[in-house]
Amino acid sequence: MKKLPPGTIIILLEKKFGLKVKKHVKTYSVKCPFHDDNKASALVFPEVNVFTCLVCGQKLKEKWAKISGKSLKPSNTRYHYIPAKAVAMLEGINKKALTEEEWKLFLKEIQSGNIKQETYENQNFKETKKDNDINPEEIWKLCKEHICTNSLKYLKSRNINGNILFKKNLIRFLNKEVAAKYKILYYYYKNDYKILIPLYDYNGKNIVNIQFRKISKNNKLPKAKFLPGGKVTDFGIEDLKQNSLATFLVEGSTDYLSLKSLGYKNVIGLTNINSTFSTPEKINLLKKLPKFIFMFYDNDEPGIEFMKQIKNQIKNLDNSKIFIPLNLLSKTKKIKDVNDFIIATENPKNKINQSIKKLISLAINNKEIKDRIINNLDSLI
Ligand SMILES: [Zn+2]
Repeated sequence: MKKLPPGTIIILLEKKFGLKVKKHVKTYSVKCPFHDDNKASALVFPEVNVFTCLVCGQKLKEKWAKISGKSLKPSNTRYHYIPAKAVAMLEGINKKALTEEEWKLFLKEIQSGNIKQETYENQNFKETKKDNDINPEEIWKLCKEHICTNSLKYLKSRNINGNILFKKNLIRFLNKEVAAKYKILYYYYKNDYKILIPLYDYNGKNIVNIQFRKISKNNKLPKAKFLPGGKVTDFGIEDLKQNSLATFLVEGSTDYLSLKSLGYKNVIGLTNINSTFSTPEKINLLKKLPKFIFMFYDNDEPGIEFMKQIKNQIKNLDNSKIFIPLNLLSKTKKIKDVNDFIIATENPKNKINQSIKKLISLAINNKEIKDRIINNLDSLI
């Protein structure tokens, strides 16, 4: 038998029984049509078209086994899943069961697309063999126009100006229509992973992956996800300016976006704690970076270890670089990273630049060069 289109079970409950299926964050609930139910005791799983009632599920399953002659697997949870066909062909409290003939007619109508419902929009998954086949360039292009005000609000709550980042093409937002084409993206969309941050190859030419940033705290899922199967590089490679004086290294996308939205030219967000200058591609990238490398590191033990490791690598690989760790955050224990600092500080850019000026005057001996850099710092970094 052909697989039912996702959501068929909801249409069935709404059309046959006249019920309203309610959507929650991850599940759907409905008043059970098979027992006198004044709460919504039944759950619906539209992706796989099954139904379960927490009160009479087991009875229903046994009934269906008798009618269909198929014994369904015993359940080791309190959920007794019964398939859409059983929901159609079992006698409900106020409604008669469909005959085999009527069930077939109903299916035909669903497959022709004549019956639609509002509750479950997820009917048009693109037929990709694997989610690994998703092309990040294509997703990036498809989300070009969409603006998500909730995502902008989320960024604003972290003192990050999303409008600037969007205009500079550094972020985009996942839109529902695009998400509905891919299973994995629909999952991301449903769980509020709505900010897209591209990862380019180390030449800065092609997008090799996208990070999806979660904009709510209402579930225990990780803060960010990548596309499955794609290569993971670092943030900001596409936007490096050769004529800049310095590059900022930070950990992760939030700190990266924080500095970018303050208007700093060269910022690299290292994707993870293993993301060091140890592969040929990254060593090449290092050679192209300007003379000064400022590194903000997380104000904890792993952060400090990580900074030391990077410092040693850079020193060994390229003697001409001047590496300056920026630990201006460590005075306050509450401030763990750049984003915390930016949230807690009035005029953070000014504070950061002041501290850089101090460090530069320590690092450079030639007074003329030193003065020139310090006086023009804002336009140089
Ligand atoms: Zn029930």
